Order: sequence, then structure tokens, then C-alpha cells
Amino acid sequence: GLLLAIETSCDETSVAVVRGGREVLSNVISSQIDTHRQFGGVVPEIASRKHVESITIILEEALKEAGVGLSDIDGIAVTQGPGLIGALLVGVVAAKSLSLALDVPLIGTHHIAGHIYANRLIGDIVYPALALVVSGGHTEIVLLESEGKFRLIGRTRDDAVGEAYDKVARALRFPYPGGPYVDRLAQEAKEEIVLPRSWLEPDSYDFSFSGLKSAVLAEINRSRMKGEDPDFSALAKGFQQSVIDVVTGKAIRAAKQFGARQMLLCGGVAANRGLRGKLAELCEAEGLPLLIPPNKLCTDNAAMIAAAADMKWRRGQFSSLDLKAEAVMSLEEWSV
Ligand code: ATP
Ligand code: MG
Ligand code: FE
Repeated sequence: GLLLAIETSCDETSVAVVRGGREVLSNVISSQIDTHRQFGGVVPEIASRKHVESITIILEEALKEAGVGLSDIDGIAVTQGPGLIGALLVGVVAAKSLSLALDVPLIGTHHIAGHIYANRLIGDIVYPALALVVSGGHTEIVLLESEGKFRLIGRTRDDAVGEAYDKVARALRFPYPGGPYVDRLAQEAKEEIVLPRSWLEPDSYDFSFSGLKSAVLAEINRSRMKGEDPDFSALAKGFQQSVIDVVTGKAIRAAKQFGARQMLLCGGVAANRGLRGKLAELCEAEGLPLLIPPNKLCTDNAAMIAAAADMKWRRGQFSSLDLKAEAVMSLEEWSV
């Protein structure tokens, strides 16, 4: 089938046309980041309005780029949640209208299932697989027991990795979103200020990053009190090394404990060069195959939503027209 997918959970308006859940005919993404940057973060009300302004334009572009018409579409996939409620609503209303007008099935899709299944656009997933989800709003370890069966193994108890990166970036005076700048500075750094690793309880797969963020701020203050300039690059490296050690360490331990046959990395922070490198190294040492999507499929996009929706499409698990956008939504409950 030919799925048309819509993603508007945060600050990207995206529409994709995907055949058979894997063949991306188009994946048009319009980012609002230039608008939100001046506020130092995503402003929900502005995000919703921007989605309203862009959605029909992006839809037309996606169809044109795919070289198909609306009458060729067999189903509509849309991000149902989690995300900003006003932003999600724009996509959900558009998807319902299309489903009704074209008389094709609607599939409400979990955003994090989308991030994970972005990997299916680049390779075959071998089950059981272990997914390390690192994004702006989520840091999770998810076990995929079989196709579309999600089990949440661990999650952050406070900040998500991307959020921690952005907060540290702000302290290092980088513009929003600062994750990529911290990554670059850390890569170039010669010195490292070693910061604590937050492992939590010995058998826990949960995460906590707010203490690490505070440690960075405390180091900056300490230097200033002594009348010295804080060594930003050594701090960036210390922060990045701590994050990478903990997330990769826990992911590898979980993969072993649950007998995973493959590791999947996903979410916007999967663009981090240090993280990609370290996880690749550890997986290779364990003989564990690893998939990481290219950057364009790591950040929010509609093709990944089609890839996840396709599992429900093939099983005939459709949503009704009273589908509701959900700001908070369980991944496990969305399992096929
Ligand atoms: P969610 O999917 O949880 O709702 P999101 O979709 O808004 O969150 P993503 O687009 O997946 O988040 O990721 C954006 C985050 O990724 C930002 O916090 C950004 O700083 C971070 N990021 C992007 N590139 C890098 C990098 N190279 N190193 C570290 N962080 C990065
Ligand atoms: Mg975004
Ligand atoms: Fe996302």
C-alpha cells in the first residue's frame, strides 16, 4: 500500500509518501527552528500556528515530489502522540479530513515507535532488538520482542539527553538547539574535566541527567568565583563523555540481559558523533549488529511515522475517526 504520513508533534511539519512501509517516495520536512530560536526553545502556541500555515503546502510538495496524486493514496498515518497537544491536533485534523475525503484507513501512530522504526527504512530489523532512544524529549531503552511489540526497559527520571545537551549548551552560550555545538566542541577538546556518571541503582536501566547538568553549571561558577575563565571545551568533553558512557553502557547491558540480536539507535541525539562512534565500537566488540539511521531520519520526519504505521496497516489495525491527539501516550500500549 501507499501510505501518506503526517508528523506535527513538535516544531517540524512533515509529510511523507511511503510505499510498502520502506520505500520513501518523498519525505518533506519544514523546520520552524529559526522562529523558535529567538525564544531559546519551542513555543507551543507559535508551533501550532506555524503547522496550520505550512501543512497544506508541505502536503502538496510531498505528493508532487513522490509523483503521485491523492487518489493513489491507500492509507493515512499520523502522529497521535506524545508531543505538544496543539501541534499534534493540526496533523490529526488534517489526517482525519484526508481519511474521510479519500475514504481510506487512518492509522494513529506513536511518535517514539516512529523514531525506532526509522531504522526499518535503512535495513532489516532482527528480533529481539534493543532500541536506544535519545531525543529532545525522551531517553529510553526499549526491547522489541517481535515486530511492533514494545517493552519499556528504562527511561529518564528527569531530563532527556537532548534536553540536557540544550541546557548545557545554553550555559556554554550556544544558540538553541545547542546539542550539535556541544558535540563539536567536545570532539575538538584536548582537555577533559571529568564529571560524575549517574548509574543509579546497580540493576537499573533508568537514567538521570539533571545532576550532570548541575555539575557543569557548578564548574562554571567555581571558575568564575576564582576570577578564572571556565574551560568550555573541557567541560563539553566531560559532559559528553559522561552521557555517552552511561547511555551506551546501559544499552549494552540490556542487550545482553534480554538476548537482543540487534541494537537500534534513534532520536535526534543519534546524530551525536561521539555517541555513534562509541556505540559502534561496543556493539562490534559484542558481535551485535547495529543500525543507525542517517541524520535526516533521526530528527522528526514523517517517513518514520509511515514505517511504524505500516506494521498496523499490514495487520488491518486501523483507527477510527474519533482518534484523539495525546500529549502523553504509552508506547507499550501502542504495540501491535
Ligand atoms: P521527542 O521525539 O522526544 O519528542 P524531538 O523530536 O523534539 O523530541 P529530536 O528532534 O529527536 O527531538 O532531537 C532534537 C534534540 O537532539 C535536540 O535537543 C538537539 O540539541 C539534539 N541534538 C541534535 N544533534 C545533536 C548532536 N550532534 N549531539 C547532541 N545532541 C544533538
Ligand atoms: Mg524538533
Ligand atoms: Fe521526535
